[in-house]
Amino acid sequence: MTKNNRECGECEVCCVFLDVPDLSKPAGVQCRFLNRGSRGCSLHGTSLQMGVCETWQCFWKQGRMKETHRPDKVGMVAFHSDRSKTYPEGVISVIEIEEDALAIHEDAKEAILKISDETGICARLKLISGEDVFVVPKKAEALYKDLDSLITFKKRLTAALQTRNDSENK
Ligand code: SF4
Ligand code: SF4
Repeated sequence: MTKNNRECGECEVCCVFLDVPDLSKPAGVQCRFLNRGSRGCSLHGTSLQMGVCETWQCFWKQGRMKETHRPDKVGMVAFHSDRSKTYPEGVISVIEIEEDALAIHEDAKEAILKISDETGICARLKLISGEDVFVVPKKAEALYKDLDSLITFKKRLTAALQTRNDSENK
């Protein structure tokens, strides 16, 4: 995975809008360790911050989106969520943090969906309106002729990945 190590600059989006279960921080609530406006994390460099946040990077910080697509400038943040039972291959999470940002900053949205197409990982767009849009990568779309075939495909994919994980863990 590309690690561009861009500097976050004035952006503090992930420290406010994302949930951090290890810190009991809910989404949309400023982290209690954030010194807002001074780009400061009061835990910076400590083992707790190193373990929880230090390695986390959004797609922009990884250099996978244009310089102009920094989350605080385009009102959305995108990242690869960890694998789970629901999403064994992981999912590209896109969180809208400013109203209509996904419509206004179409180029940033397209940059994210391009990553989805290239990696074959589905994207989940969470809009401020509460709408939750699931986007299937183009390369997989052809396999889905209707909703039933989509569900069947996802079940087969889940089972195949589970079998692979089980054999890797033996
Ligand atoms: S959302 Fe991305 S650019 Fe913004 S502070 Fe977090 S890692 Fe840095
Ligand atoms: S611990 Fe620091 S880096 Fe992690 S969410 Fe809080 S302020 Fe941000």
